[in-house]
Amino acid sequence: MKTFCGRANPTTGSMEWLEEGEDYDYHQEIARSRYADMLHDKDRNVKYYQGIRAAVNRVKERGEKAIVLDIGTGTGLLSMMAASAGADFCYAIEVFKPMANAAVKIVEQNGFSDKIKVINKHSTEVTVGPDGDMQCRANILVTELFDTELIGEGALPTYEHAHKYLVQEGCEAVPHRATVYVQLVESRRMWSWKKLFPVHVEAEDGEKILVPPSEMENCPGVPSVCDIQLNQMPSSDFSTLSDVVTMFSVDFSKPVQSASTYYRVQLEPVKSGKAQIVLSWWDIDMDPSGMINCTMAPYWVKPTSALQWRDHWMQCVYFLPREEPVVQGEKLYLTACRDQYSVWYSLQKAREGENKADEEEHKADARVESPVCRCRAHLLWNRPRFGELNDQNRTRQYIRSLRKVLKPDSVCLCISDGSLLPVLAYYLGAKQVQYFVLVFRSLHFGLVFFSHVFFKANHLEDKIKIIEARPELLKSSHLEDKKISVLVGEPFFTTSLLPWHNLYFWYARTAVSTHLASNVTVLPQSASLHMMVVEFQDLWRIRSPCGTCEGFDVQAMDDMIKDSLNFRESKEAEPHPLWEYPCKSLSEPQEVLTFDFTKTVPQHCLSTEGSVKLLREGKSHGAVLWMEYQLAADISVSTGLMQLSNEKGNCEWNPHCKQAVYFFSSVIESEILSDPTAVTYAIKFDTKTGEIAMDFKL
Ligand code: SAH
Repeated sequence: MKTFCGRANPTTGSMEWLEEGEDYDYHQEIARSRYADMLHDKDRNVKYYQGIRAAVNRVKERGEKAIVLDIGTGTGLLSMMAASAGADFCYAIEVFKPMANAAVKIVEQNGFSDKIKVINKHSTEVTVGPDGDMQCRANILVTELFDTELIGEGALPTYEHAHKYLVQEGCEAVPHRATVYVQLVESRRMWSWKKLFPVHVEAEDGEKILVPPSEMENCPGVPSVCDIQLNQMPSSDFSTLSDVVTMFSVDFSKPVQSASTYYRVQLEPVKSGKAQIVLSWWDIDMDPSGMINCTMAPYWVKPTSALQWRDHWMQCVYFLPREEPVVQGEKLYLTACRDQYSVWYSLQKAREGENKADEEEHKADARVESPVCRCRAHLLWNRPRFGELNDQNRTRQYIRSLRKVLKPDSVCLCISDGSLLPVLAYYLGAKQVQYFVLVFRSLHFGLVFFSHVFFKANHLEDKIKIIEARPELLKSSHLEDKKISVLVGEPFFTTSLLPWHNLYFWYARTAVSTHLASNVTVLPQSASLHMMVVEFQDLWRIRSPCGTCEGFDVQAMDDMIKDSLNFRESKEAEPHPLWEYPCKSLSEPQEVLTFDFTKTVPQHCLSTEGSVKLLREGKSHGAVLWMEYQLAADISVSTGLMQLSNEKGNCEWNPHCKQAVYFFSSVIESEILSDPTAVTYAIKFDTKTGEIAMDFKL
């Protein structure tokens, strides 16, 4: 089946129709999936195997046949473990068709076809009985249906159904139990992902303060989970206000209820401070005794054990609805509410001489609704974007640059999504009209937020005009027949996934050319694409073949991922927030392409070729690419590399942006460097399609 999907090209802004077959979707799903990462997760695999062996033995010791139900079998790994451990039969359920096919192949290649039946269904569709998918109910339930939030992939309703219809009462479950842990912290850095901090601007006529609207103060934000590699957050970036507390557990061997509920624990802060964030992670016990434990605890909780790196399970950051000052030793209640798929938190203070009635009242308070953004800012700005807007250093660079280019009679036009630049420009420039085009290509609520909430709170409603038009539809009447003397952009667009998608600014600039004064100043003046060859500490795993996993041949999975990555021939760069994924530079960072915003987008392609010298020993896993913007003569901002410590090549990345990673098809091992090896590259920016094609060779 083929369908045509219309979308605005993220770089050029023009509408295009893409032919998307079913194939495309599933290739994307496989290529970007976490299957490889799971298979590389040694700690997980070993513990599952131990847990499965123990469960099979317990059943056998009771003199029963071991019948396994493996829900979400993926490659068939856990069923093969069970079969090797002596299980009599395994029903391996997998809803995703390409994976179910792969499982059949892998099971066969490993010689388990007579012991494992792969069923391509959602578990809730599976039937039991003489003519059913399963002959009888299973007495061992094996699953791995967890995400970073534990329940986000629907583990609870799946377990609830399985206990009702697919497994025997008193069955063994691997994992046996999951426990969710929390810790209350204060962190300006993480809080800056949810709140807009006041912006101070030193203007000619005194200091101006851009204030967040009151609607934002108590806004609970959005319900989507914030999952990060918490192990990359230095301890100096947060302060723990409580000990680690057990929030709730789920026993998977008993009937599970998925209906919404809440859990409440009492806490006493170990330190006074501002309660802002709840950090959370979970662990799973593979057996009832808790001897086989697989934990996501971050480094400061389990400092002695070697941490297993994994990307499929990380840690969660929950934002309290509002900041709450807490005092060491005072009595607090932390409440976790959950529905079938997500969790959210609130904090209550216990009052003096609390009695039973009060406690009931607290419980009522505790049942807060799932967070829904009321101020609209959280729909307009995602968490990294909040962080970026709150980055004072960055704001300072823009202020310095604006100061250089603005004149008392400047007519200014801003092209960027949800940007504070028009306000900065207004404060810094003459009291002339400022214009602001919102190019949010479908984000109408952004417009409502700016015009009805944000500008109002700062008394700017009649100072900054919002033009609701696409750049190519801009008319002189929008500009009151004036020419634009200063065109500004961060540039930032919500539709950008890869760094160069923000080149949309260049296309928009080209579209509004007829409205620009002949001596127009464009800020940024130019952008440049930078590149560096790196060795990843861990990220390489997500694209690296597994071969075998705990003795099972899973090469069919590797081949399938490879096919999907090569689907449509062109290998693509993928976006990753590299502050979460440490790497070491193996080459000098180098500028590969520049884009001159003072001119319009040229008709011809921009291309470049060259070579990169590898200066350090290491494995060249791929190239990282990012954009830098030249704001004014001597001021530039980087969306990628911020600092490079030269001896070891450790990199510090912009914490608010994703960088582009191009994984090399084979790892180049420059273990011993006598002569610097060179990697050659060819990079081409097609100005028609806005795409960047690249090729690397050793
Ligand atoms: N068990 C494998 C793969 C785990 S990934 C391993 O441990 O390596 C989880 C898999 O479960 C995915 O392939 C997903 O498609 C599948 N899945 C999730 N919920 C399911 C359900 N209710 N029924 C069937 N498959 C499900």
